Amino acid sequence: MQLKIYNSLAGEKEIFKPILEGNVGMYVCGPTVYSNVHLGNVRTFLSFDFIYRSLTHLGYKVRYVRNITDAGHLTDDGDVNNDRFVKQTRLEKLEPMEIVQKYTVDFHKVLDMFNLLPPNIEPTATGHIVEQIELTQKLIETGFAYESNGSVYFDVLEYNNRGLNYGELSKRNIEELFANTRDLDGQGEKKNPQDFALWKKASPAHIMRWNSPWGEGFPGWHLECTAMSTKYLGETFDIHGGGMDLKFPHHECEIAQGKACNGASPVNYWMHANMLTMNSQRMSKSTGNYILPMQLVSGENDFFEKSFHPAIVRFCFLQAHYRSVLDISNDAMLASEKGFSRLMEALKILNSITPNDEKQSGFSLEDWKTKCYDALTDDFNSPVLIAHLFEAVKFIFALKDEKETISAKNLEDLKSTLNAFVFDVLGLQNIEENNNEKLDQTLQVLIELRNQARKSKNFDLSDQIRDKLLAEGIELKDGREGTTYVLN
Ligand code: AMP
Ligand code: ZN
Repeated sequence: MQLKIYNSLAGEKEIFKPILEGNVGMYVCGPTVYSNVHLGNVRTFLSFDFIYRSLTHLGYKVRYVRNITDAGHLTDDGDVNNDRFVKQTRLEKLEPMEIVQKYTVDFHKVLDMFNLLPPNIEPTATGHIVEQIELTQKLIETGFAYESNGSVYFDVLEYNNRGLNYGELSKRNIEELFANTRDLDGQGEKKNPQDFALWKKASPAHIMRWNSPWGEGFPGWHLECTAMSTKYLGETFDIHGGGMDLKFPHHECEIAQGKACNGASPVNYWMHANMLTMNSQRMSKSTGNYILPMQLVSGENDFFEKSFHPAIVRFCFLQAHYRSVLDISNDAMLASEKGFSRLMEALKILNSITPNDEKQSGFSLEDWKTKCYDALTDDFNSPVLIAHLFEAVKFIFALKDEKETISAKNLEDLKSTLNAFVFDVLGLQNIEENNNEKLDQTLQVLIELRNQARKSKNFDLSDQIRDKLLAEGIELKDGREGTTYVLN
């Protein structure tokens, strides 16, 4: 089985060859934790969760690193008023690290709700200041960077003069960019407007600051990803992912920093996930066209007519390929809900099918499995994979109606393959089972509380718990093994 990955750097699908056979090093740009993640952000992280799950399912041992940007994420002008953390700190009257903690917790909660697996390493920018200072020093020593008024900039023209190509990922002709902007922009501290900050001098208003050989300041956003990815995955690693909007300048700068520091391209396969739009407009906080994940799940919003379970949102997202734009709308969500229910129903039916080894089936399990794996290994094509899963769903309903048969061996194979694709690879959750699990956990808590009440001779309370549950149709039965319950 050959895995093909669309490499943004090559502009085409390539056969995936990891640096170390059977192993994958994957880095994905994480969130800037200065406010709640919106549903658009979730789509990007979910795309890479699916890719991570797929790689693992295909047998790779993956080291998945996704960072937390918790130091100044500046616009390149270095204006403190544009620093997202500083702005939010003022707005919420909190310490910068309180802002970081608040939104990191929110981020984890949201991803957990959509059943995303945690990365293997989740490094923070503030935890890697030393590494960023070291890289900056190295870039100054090798002549790729220069200090100017307490800040340090990457010298893009110098980089290109040495035969390297700033613009290779975003396919921008940097010569032209230089020609167009050199005279227009006030260059200030920079030699050229394209030069980007590796280290920024902190103004008196800037709260997050660290000592450095160039005075007090804070690291540039692009450098943190170079520092953390190469620290944990090596100077050249297999996969780097992020949203499409990060291609330029963020990832372009990462390539330049990596090549200038180590003389080698830092990443073999660049993967970019496409954007989420809502009612055909890109989801973004700045335009107001956004929804928070909890608002979709709770139904408290002006865009959707009802609430949707996170598993249905996840299913909806995966019905589009990660490189395609996905438009979320009320109709799209309703259609996903229908599809999801049918898929779950088929899985339930599968458990009650009686195999028949006598009759020949019209459904070729082997062909079906091949088609599923072909989709998965064709640049992680989730919509095609899901379409194949629905061929199996159709077959399962035919089994139920006794219009089809399946042998015992194939039944087991179909069950385990379908379950693996649905739960391990797509990461969906069975809503019904989950609810049952929750109910069971809740009842165990109530039984425990009733036991405690009885021990302390509070029979009033213990009887109340028993009677109120009975009124809801839940009968508690006390036996030698303890208390059990029956749902009437
Ligand atoms: P940020 O916290 O702004 O750095 O963004 C975190 C991630 O969300 C980045 O990888 C962005 O590319 C991604 N992102 C932002 N807006 C959208 C959107 N509308 N659809 C999908 N991904 C997005
Ligand atoms: Zn990054």
